[in-house]
Amino acid sequence: MSALKINFMVFTSAEGCCQDVGKSLTRPSELVMTRSFKMSRRSVLGGLTGLAAVSAVPLVTSKAFASETQVEAPHIHSCADWGARPVGDMPVVNQAPNKIICHHTAFPNTDDHSLEYAFQNSREIQDLHIDQNGWPDSGQHFTNSQGGHITEGRFGSLGALQDGTYMIQGAHVVGQNSEAIGIENDGSYHDGAQPSEAQWNSLINLCAYICAQYGIPSSEIYGHMDFNETQCPGVIHERLPELREAVQGVLDG
Ligand SMILES: [Zn+2]
Repeated sequence: MSALKINFMVFTSAEGCCQDVGKSLTRPSELVMTRSFKMSRRSVLGGLTGLAAVSAVPLVTSKAFASETQVEAPHIHSCADWGARPVGDMPVVNQAPNKIICHHTAFPNTDDHSLEYAFQNSREIQDLHIDQNGWPDSGQHFTNSQGGHITEGRFGSLGALQDGTYMIQGAHVVGQNSEAIGIENDGSYHDGAQPSEAQWNSLINLCAYICAQYGIPSSEIYGHMDFNETQCPGVIHERLPELREAVQGVLDG
């Protein structure tokens, strides 16, 4: 069992998504500042980052987006919830992202839709990205399990999303890591398999919440293969028009 998992991990690194995005981390310095600066600012504003699980909160939307837009926040499990390894401060990009990019993990498909499986999966992704890819933390901002459980990926991404005015720099798509929120959908979708209904629905709700919080139009949801040479995210890429339409439906209420 463990040997099988190791094989998939090797496959993921060599052929799956995110295999080479570490090269793209250099960004315009004026956009990047340390998280400690943001923490100081947020503490002045009341320390809202401690709220890992929220529901139906009033949204702070960008000036460019409909200020009336409200989307029920999905339950997003924080790094602390799933037992993430401690990491240092992640770089902060002091502006909202302009798009969402979907991935698949290329990990094995499973019928185990439990929360514990989702948490274990988050830990395995973090281990892979730190130990094998040499990154400071998970590359993606959020992870969507096959059971539809959403977890925070790179540390600080949840607080940034709840704030709505800045993002944590990711490591998921070459050339887009300071502009795009990355969502890892667990599973392998390049070879005929479809995401479960639970996973698909949670992807819709997560995308809608991200769009509302950051003022991202539903048309700005993409797949990894739109930017890099990869099979990621498989059939999810083919279903992007359906996803965008469903997200717009949520935004329209
Ligand atoms: Zn990918």
